[in-house]
Amino acid sequence: MIQTYTYTSLNKGPHVLFFGAIHGNEVCGPRALAQVMKELDSGKLQLQKGSATFVPVCNPAAYAQNLRLTEENLNRIFKPTKTPRSYEAQMANVLCNLVDQCDVLLDIHSTTAKGEPFMYLDFPTKTNRAWAEVLGPTGAVVGWPELYKKFGKSHTSFDTTTYAHSRGKDTLLVECGQHKAASATGVAYNAVRNTLAHYALVAEQTHNYKPALAKITNGFFRNEGEALANPTWKHMDRVKKGAALINTKNKPVVAPHDGYIIMPKFDAAVGQDWLYFGRDL
Ligand SMILES: [Zn+2]
Repeated sequence: MIQTYTYTSLNKGPHVLFFGAIHGNEVCGPRALAQVMKELDSGKLQLQKGSATFVPVCNPAAYAQNLRLTEENLNRIFKPTKTPRSYEAQMANVLCNLVDQCDVLLDIHSTTAKGEPFMYLDFPTKTNRAWAEVLGPTGAVVGWPELYKKFGKSHTSFDTTTYAHSRGKDTLLVECGQHKAASATGVAYNAVRNTLAHYALVAEQTHNYKPALAKITNGFFRNEGEALANPTWKHMDRVKKGAALINTKNKPVVAPHDGYIIMPKFDAAVGQDWLYFGRDL
């Protein structure tokens, strides 16, 4: 069962949807959404138009066990299926239906990697860019869909933003910081409030954070017996062309150009995405 909470103004306006805990161990979304709902319930925050739907926990079984997932990565299989093959596929069916009914989707995540909060601006349309400028983080990564297109069938990414974009919605994914950091909840909270303000659901000013864009160019999946070359990497650490990225049994995998470490997932399981690499846009 997925619990949803919808607040509707008497005045017409956009319908904004917020997702938390697509990955069950990412608690900043549920916490931030609970905080904003409390403000709406008490009347401290009031919708002047449109509606907002909050889904604090999109993957309840994984959330109950503090796990990223139970059977499949919900943010790689996010599309409707007639006969869902897993628990996450069942959740995807329910959640895709919610996306169909909204105009805007913000998907809230956290990570194991250290580093500044950032956004995935997977579809840099005019409206998504304008929203990204006021969301809060000072960095955004572009190029994820293009990278997965390059992988072809070997690694697919049916994710929340891809689905929402395919249905004509505005959509961003925000990475708020490390899973257990208290600051991540603050970043998520600000992103929700700034989104409500940007779409004029609440009467508040927004601020342009002028986010710097980085383009993702490579992605690596964990193999047995390999290790990331530097266990202290943070998201957006700079690496020179030719520097080791992954130590293997044979030659190390090296940086193809001067660039950035993107989202090192030190706890990735074998076969899962492990490290991304990118450059300035
Ligand atoms: Zn996540």
